[in-house]
Amino acid sequence: SGLDAEDIRHIERRKRLLGPAYRLFYRTPVKIARGEGVFLYDDKGHQYLDAYNNVVSLGHSSPRVVDAIKEQLDILCTHSRYMQDGLLDYAERLLATFDGEIGRTGCVMFTCTGSEANDLALRVARHRTGKRGVIVTSEAYHGNSGAVAAISPSLGKHSTLDPSLRTVSAPDSYRIPLAEIGPRMAAEVAQQIKDLERRGDGIAAFIVDSVFSSDGLFVNPTDILAPVAEIVRKAGGLFIADEVQSGFGRTCDHLWGYSRHGVDPDIVTMGKPMGNGYPVAGAIFRPEVIEDFGRDMRYFNTFGGNTVAIAAARATLDTILSPGLLTNASKVGGTLLAGLQQLGQRYEQIGDVRGTGLYYGVELVKDRVAKTTDIDVGLAIVNGLRDRRVLISATGPDANVLKIRPQLIFSEANCDQLLDALDKTLAAI
Ligand code: PMP
Repeated sequence: SGLDAEDIRHIERRKRLLGPAYRLFYRTPVKIARGEGVFLYDDKGHQYLDAYNNVVSLGHSSPRVVDAIKEQLDILCTHSRYMQDGLLDYAERLLATFDGEIGRTGCVMFTCTGSEANDLALRVARHRTGKRGVIVTSEAYHGNSGAVAAISPSLGKHSTLDPSLRTVSAPDSYRIPLAEIGPRMAAEVAQQIKDLERRGDGIAAFIVDSVFSSDGLFVNPTDILAPVAEIVRKAGGLFIADEVQSGFGRTCDHLWGYSRHGVDPDIVTMGKPMGNGYPVAGAIFRPEVIEDFGRDMRYFNTFGGNTVAIAAARATLDTILSPGLLTNASKVGGTLLAGLQQLGQRYEQIGDVRGTGLYYGVELVKDRVAKTTDIDVGLAIVNGLRDRRVLISATGPDANVLKIRPQLIFSEANCDQLLDALDKTLAAI
């Protein structure tokens, strides 16, 4: 298995100490000792190319962010109930990055995780609308708190879903003709709203990850979400963009994934890369959406928006916005896409290559005509790449879509290394 006696002892100890709900990556798990840029190093000094971790989107141990954290930690780390210029300066800078009305007039609230941000968004939406129903895509994931796990069907059939949750099909651009995707989603949303209204729940919110990561990564067409937002709002619901995956430049052409769809959301939630690894997340709201909630409740999150988190977030945002970073990421993304498409021409198992910016999916199939998913091959490739010291993962309902999501500082040379390892892995399978 590639594991030595010490690794086996570690895994047994882990199971005993952390319990049974945790999962390690890879058939031969990796014991990581340190990270630098796009590389991770195991305890024996072996180097791994990390083409998966979008949390550290500026690379592992990014010096500018690390320095900002250390500097602030030396001075002060406290919560948001004191007057602090840094908190407001960051809020202002963050809001200025949003297109449309929400950027001009919105406000921001800070949390520690994407789950908390979605949990808060859901509370605000239900309070504002007085309705309970929620619509998501069929394999959506929106987080791990009780309330958001209950609107995350991707957690599987044993997870209890909210009785007022309704799902719509993912925009599967591999199987549905592009022209049909938008009308189909609009029709399904309208149908589910009717059903929720019939039951007396009504619609509080439609929540969506605009790149549909857990559904299998679908980035086109981009004209489907604006009509959905209109239908939802007409019925009194809110449109929530979950930017935990697609935000902070992942799509390279825009800082926020929803902008690709030309939609103006009521609430936007964000997290993961916001502090380049330091826990910081948040949500922004249109003023009219948060008004009643602010009057009737109060909100405090002990660690959300603490001084150090804000310093990390500030350094991260400034670096993402530094001249050339996203342009370069976009160029490297283009090389990656072209390389994956070339592999697609050579290997029968590759049914579809899709993605944008620096986020790509490679869908593996048993049969290109029938488009039947191939679960075993997906896992075999992820593990084969790991054995060649290149780290990725898989997504989609059958985990048959290779999920390639490198740091925004990925270079052409990193790209070549990944493509070469993938080529060799496919050839060996
Ligand atoms: N929303 C989406 C789209 C996510 O991908 C995730 C995390 N995978 C979350 C929310 C939850 O974020 P966190 O793990 O920071 O709570």
